[in-house]
Amino acid sequence: MKKFKSLLVIAGLCVGLLSGCGKESNTNTTVPTTAQSDVLSINCLSVGKADAIIIQQGEHAVLIDAGESNDGSAVVSALKNQGISNLDAFIITHYDKDHVGGAQKVIQNMEIGRIICPDYEGDNAEYGAFVRAVKNKEVEKMDEKDTTTIQIGESNMTLYAATDKADIMDTKDEFDNNMSLVAKLIYNNNSFLLTADIEKKRIKQMIESDIDWSCDWIKIPHHGRYQKFVKKLLEAATPEYAVISTGSDEPPVEKLEAALQEANITYYGTMEKNVVTYSDGEKIWIE
Ligand SMILES: [Zn+2]
Repeated sequence: MKKFKSLLVIAGLCVGLLSGCGKESNTNTTVPTTAQSDVLSINCLSVGKADAIIIQQGEHAVLIDAGESNDGSAVVSALKNQGISNLDAFIITHYDKDHVGGAQKVIQNMEIGRIICPDYEGDNAEYGAFVRAVKNKEVEKMDEKDTTTIQIGESNMTLYAATDKADIMDTKDEFDNNMSLVAKLIYNNNSFLLTADIEKKRIKQMIESDIDWSCDWIKIPHHGRYQKFVKKLLEAATPEYAVISTGSDEPPVEKLEAALQEANITYYGTMEKNVVTYSDGEKIWIE
């Protein structure tokens, strides 16, 4: 993995218009984790068709993605509501605007241990804002095949970059989505798989690898769109629970819901409110 300071190049950056979508955020939830250091929480924020996920155990916290640019303040408020002013790590899974958009606000308002992102250049204004925000900060860029592990209290989270960049370039899938960092979080006997926006080629790479993707809980890829091989991923992962991060204006597609029902998976969506998952290392409950 490459580590460096402010070397993110804004190559080919087109300064597009920030797309305010006017969606409403509902990110105020009480997550009682600081008092219960043995409870792991995963708060999937209700930020429309976007990702912002707070993982906390005791005094330790990690943020995965930060929604769109106009979600940044709500993400910072949600972190503060959970008593978080220090992030052990801030992970940008990829540079689409609904993941990197709020990053600048988070970086301006939080003490951050590690900033981790995939090794490619984004091409939107939100990526440009992120690059400016990490100026003079150390950023870890994960190249193909890279993995890294983060300790979050008593939990461990391993991040996986794409295994073959050339392979995912050669496809109709969106390259950015397939470059997403995938995370597997383990707390004693419970495990959680967070798949960002991966599409069919990347899912295929995953299920063809030797890595154990089995989990109790999965964050469904790409906001509940239906991807070829998603059924195979569910078969390999065998989760009991699933969370879909999307807005009420773009609900999960029927084919995906049918696949979840067929696999007997209990699923939740962030359309109306945050979905908070708790684990004591043995059992999982969702509010
Ligand atoms: Zn997305």
